[in-house]
Amino acid sequence: MSEAAVLSRKADFPGLLTADGKPWHYLDTAASSQKPRQVIDAMSRALGEDYATVHRGVYGRSAQMTLGYEAARRRVADFIGADSEDEVVFVRGATEGINLVAQSWGAANLREGDRIVLSLLEHHSNIVPWQMIAERTGAVIDVCSLTEDGRIDLGALEATLTPRTKIVSLAHVSNVLGSVLDARAAADLAHSVGAKLLLDGCQSAPRLALDMTVLGCDFYVFSGHKLYGPTGIGVLWGRKDLLEAMPPWQGGGAMIEKVEFARSTYAPPPQRFEAGTPMITEAIALHAAIDYVAEQGPDRLFAHEATLATTLREELRTLNSVTLFGPEESAGIVSFAIEGVHPHDLGTILDEEDVAIRAGHHCAQPLMEHLGVPATARASFGLYSDESDIAALLRGIERTLKIFG
Ligand code: PMP
Repeated sequence: MSEAAVLSRKADFPGLLTADGKPWHYLDTAASSQKPRQVIDAMSRALGEDYATVHRGVYGRSAQMTLGYEAARRRVADFIGADSEDEVVFVRGATEGINLVAQSWGAANLREGDRIVLSLLEHHSNIVPWQMIAERTGAVIDVCSLTEDGRIDLGALEATLTPRTKIVSLAHVSNVLGSVLDARAAADLAHSVGAKLLLDGCQSAPRLALDMTVLGCDFYVFSGHKLYGPTGIGVLWGRKDLLEAMPPWQGGGAMIEKVEFARSTYAPPPQRFEAGTPMITEAIALHAAIDYVAEQGPDRLFAHEATLATTLREELRTLNSVTLFGPEESAGIVSFAIEGVHPHDLGTILDEEDVAIRAGHHCAQPLMEHLGVPATARASFGLYSDESDIAALLRGIERTLKIFG
């Protein structure tokens, strides 16, 4: 990827400047990405001159907006290699998508003593919803361990599975370690005992070219705000036969076929799972975000960010006081600790240098416990990141080391 291409991408993102117009070295893309002008403009148009509600109005503007909303669904389906747009449910984000599967599919399919398999590196969003449904149904959570270098251990996964395992729910890419799951192998293992596989795609959707058929999973979730789109929208993709068999999880307008006081009947998926007025403007802006990412070439994004991650790891390794977490080969996410410096102090000093990193447990407390640390510092790259961001981070770390002696 040429320098010029990277620079032109930075120019697309107004959020990458400080208030006084200096470069802002944003290294917190795994938490939420900055938005390109194209997305901001699409959102602005949808909220302004194009705005009307969907699915109800008989007037032209509403019909137009409905076309835009449904076109966004088709765009998502195409982007993730879904067989049909009917498999794409708009939700508020990955968290809501996992809660939907846990509450709807889980309540219908989990019985006392059934097993739910998670891994040690899961985000709280892929732990707590399962605990809630386990409590309701009497199902039990099993935890699959990691390899030494912080990847989900497929051997351990195989050993964790039993004929009672009904669902396996795993991060496709870890938000802390950047490790990438061999999704196809995990799907084959899950299916070998008749279990379903849900992939938490929060960190993979913005970095990998996706094809649901190739991945072999049964459910896939991601959040729009990590894919250069707006907050308030995400996607649950589910295999059609599974979605069709699932009961609704929220009731209200738009998800029904017919309502009587005695009983109601429900619309087929995806409408069955979209009660109420949907995230219209967010879906349209997500469409613009996907167009933007597709233009960059989703298959190039991983390599671009992984190269930056490798460079950063090599630089950090030259500092004696730094511990690196996670595998050598990873997505553009680097977690580290500096001896004698709390990650929050590092984050605060870096902020003075216009460098934004994440410091904390990254909503993965069980993983922190496994790593034996209360928190890590995390630098995560996006498609707009380049070597200048790494240089600024290293300058900030050098200053921190001087301050802390
Ligand atoms: N899973 C992973 C791996 C994540 O990184 C995140 C966001 N940090 C989530 C789930 C939750 O996403 P959201 O808060 O957008 O629902």
